Amino acid sequence: MALADESVELPADLLLVSIGQVPDLAGVEQWELGISGPHIEVDSAMQTDRRGVFAVGDFAAYPGKVRMIATAVAEGSTATASVERFLMTPN
Ligand SMILES: Cc1cc2nc3c(=O)[nH]c(=O)nc-3n(C[C@H](O)[C@H](O)[C@H](O)COP(=O)(O)OP(=O)(O)OC[C@H]3O[C@@H](n4cnc5c(N)ncnc54)[C@H](O)[C@@H]3O)c2cc1C
Repeated sequence: MALADESVELPADLLLVSIGQVPDLAGVEQWELGISGPHIEVDSAMQTDRRGVFAVGDFAAYPGKVRMIATAVAEGSTATASVERFLMTPN
């Protein structure tokens, strides 16, 4: 581990920089989904502000969200059940 005033050389063939990624919501901006900055707010059923529209994965947001693969997969299961409930419930 280098101290603040030291530098260290690491041998490598390639360096990939992948930082500062944000979702591109341009395609859904007009849908009134509850867009908050780079994310879309969802409730515990993964429903957006717009009834019948659900969101999962990195761009779906709620308090305490951890953006990982397992989270996105689990949210997909929740959203699928929510969509089924939505379709099966008479309006
Ligand atoms: C550098 C990095 C390292 C990470 N490491 C880990 C890790 O070790 N473990 C872990 O659990 N998580 C890790 N994550 C987080 C994890 O990758 C994400 O939380 C997860 O992939 C989110 O899934 P997603 O389906 O929301 O988005 P994505 O996996 O990004 O999938 C979105 C897909 O939609 C496609 N797409 C985008 N726009 C359009 C469009 N207009 N039309 C059609 N398709 C479109 C994209 O090409 C992409 O295939 C990492 C993320 C990054 C950036």
